[in-house]
Amino acid sequence: MLLKPDFNIESIYDIDIIELKKMGIKGLFFDLDSTLMKSKSGTFSFRTIQFLNDLKTNFELAIITNNKNINYINRAKSQIDIPVYHRAKKPDTKVLLKACKDLNLDPLNVAMIGDRPLSDILGGINANMATILVDSISKNDENFIVRFARFLERLTISK
Ligand SMILES: [Mg+2]
Repeated sequence: MLLKPDFNIESIYDIDIIELKKMGIKGLFFDLDSTLMKSKSGTFSFRTIQFLNDLKTNFELAIITNNKNINYINRAKSQIDIPVYHRAKKPDTKVLLKACKDLNLDPLNVAMIGDRPLSDILGGINANMATILVDSISKNDENFIVRFARFLERLTISK
């Protein structure tokens, strides 16, 4: 099975806001680790916080993470004013659809953004959302094993 994200871009900062608006996108759901913050760092960069705050003027935002560590999640929550859903079990769609309901969004008007094809992108596709694959925000710091695992997972992406 090959996955086809609607956009395959280098980072969240390359998101084409005008194009998404044209597509009728009203909500942006972000994965947390390696998408918005370096994996296990627990801290958003200043640039990312500003970027998210700017996006809030155009879109409803949510963070949907498979992370289960409640201390880590609370730490992330304390830095931003965006709803965070944890234990999402992506590619399962239950939590994605719950967030749509909470924010009064039709999944067709939401884009799911993340670094993992088999959780973020597959989950978005399963939920009938637009999908945006980004490279890991920490790709330059990752060791060979992690990079190789990412390479293998990306074989599921159709060019
Ligand atoms: Mg991730």
